[in-house]
This record gives sequence, structure tokens and C-alpha cells, in this order.
Amino acid sequence: MSVSAQVHLNSAFARGLLARRPDVIAVTIGARIFVVGDMIPSWVMRHEIQHVRQYLRYGLFGFLARYAWYMISAGYSRNPLEHDAEEAE
Ligand SMILES: [Zn+2]
Repeated sequence: MSVSAQVHLNSAFARGLLARRPDVIAVTIGARIFVVGDMIPSWVMRHEIQHVRQYLRYGLFGFLARYAWYMISAGYSRNPLEHDAEEAE
């Protein structure tokens, strides 16, 4: 499935949201990818594009509700949405 996304480099939103996660450099909301720095490695792009596909599958609220639930119940490393995105890297 072909998807399109808007990439925001040097994003203050991303810097703020990920301030406590120096290992994470991008966050995706819907079809917008917010990046901490001025470039995004291709494997991170593939990961974030997979999150865009997940948003298309579940809808904005459906994705965020699932993501929040998995983070609370399983944590980041066991979040199935992250596993799915990692397989796309
Ligand atoms: Zn991810």
C-alpha cells in the first residue's frame, strides 16, 4: 500500500515530546512525522511510515487508544504496534 506523509524536521513538538527519550528521534501523528533533528535515517522513515499505515488502519483515535493501552499494559518493548513498525525497518 502506497502512503504519503508530511515530514517536519527540527520539530519543537518532537523535541518536547521525546525530551526524556533520547533514543527516539521521531514521532508520528496521523500522516505527519515529526523529527527531532535535521535528518531522518531511511530505516527510521520506514518505521514511521508503518505507523502511518497503522493510523490508516485504525483511525486517529483508534490508533492512539490502542497505542496508549499497549504502553500501559505491555510497555514500549512489548507494544505490538512497535513490533509491527520494527519489522518494516
Ligand atoms: Zn515506533
